[in-house]
Amino acid sequence: MPAKCKFCDRPAFIKLHYPRMYLCEEHFKEYFERKVRRTMERYKMLKPDERVLVAVSGGKDSAVAAYILKKLGYKVECLHINLGIGDYSEKGERYARRQCEKIGAPLHVVRVKELLGHGIGEVKTRRPTCSYCGLTKRYIFNKFAYDNGFDAVATGHNLDDEASFIFNNIMNWNTQYLAKQGPVTPAGFNGKLVKKVKPLYEVTEREVVAYALASGIEYEIEECPYARGATTLEWKEILNQMEEKRPGTKINFVKGYLRKRHLFEAELKEAELRECKVCGMPASGEVCSFCRFWGLKEPIDFRVKRQ
Ligand SMILES: [Zn+2]
Ligand SMILES: [Zn+2]
Repeated sequence: MPAKCKFCDRPAFIKLHYPRMYLCEEHFKEYFERKVRRTMERYKMLKPDERVLVAVSGGKDSAVAAYILKKLGYKVECLHINLGIGDYSEKGERYARRQCEKIGAPLHVVRVKELLGHGIGEVKTRRPTCSYCGLTKRYIFNKFAYDNGFDAVATGHNLDDEASFIFNNIMNWNTQYLAKQGPVTPAGFNGKLVKKVKPLYEVTEREVVAYALASGIEYEIEECPYARGATTLEWKEILNQMEEKRPGTKINFVKGYLRKRHLFEAELKEAELRECKVCGMPASGEVCSFCRFWGLKEPIDFRVKRQ
């Protein structure tokens, strides 16, 4: 006999491990949406009238984040950064377009290669590719949101991402990274650092995949070619093995971290921030890391002309 939903007579669509229950497709969607709404309320992520920019990569997490924010009634627009990584990026952009059409949210696209002359992976530098890619994405999302007056930027980080980030940084004792991680990063530097929120903070990757399937959200499955073999994937695997033996490991680990986060504050080397000489955005030196890395002489203006 196939398992039945805990709440109705329909066949089970998914077996959740924590809390342990079988749910049909409809009741799973309801469960997932309620969970995200509660996370957003618990951490006071967004006020109902705030404009939020969702960073959509074409992958499942950001697609689900945009879909659910829209469904919960928020004012959503999306930004896709085409990183210029060949076919992988072209596919990502096509998925991002389809995902935004599906939910009826405006999509803005920034192409790194057109904007800066080189795609990610094409720059001659000693810096690791993932490191300057991250720096470039963070800067563009923040500056785009700031230039266009958004109140917040939302990303698709899920519970597995957060747990593996914390795990990795504990295993390497990168304690300075552990002082500031969390579901919400408040606005700062006179609004030039836009508030960051993670609506999927308390749902697992497995739940995100199931929700995308249940909601008919299509997404790019391929991993970034530069991320292959990244150690975070190994940490995720270890955490998944633990989760299987002891359901609730991941959520309890992350919640415990949030309670103890203050212990790492002494490690925080809060560099005095000042305005970048080139772009005016926050910098720890004379010029911000984005303008320095890309050798900019003039700031980039991301303001969208509205008809
Ligand atoms: Zn049901
Ligand atoms: Zn700058």
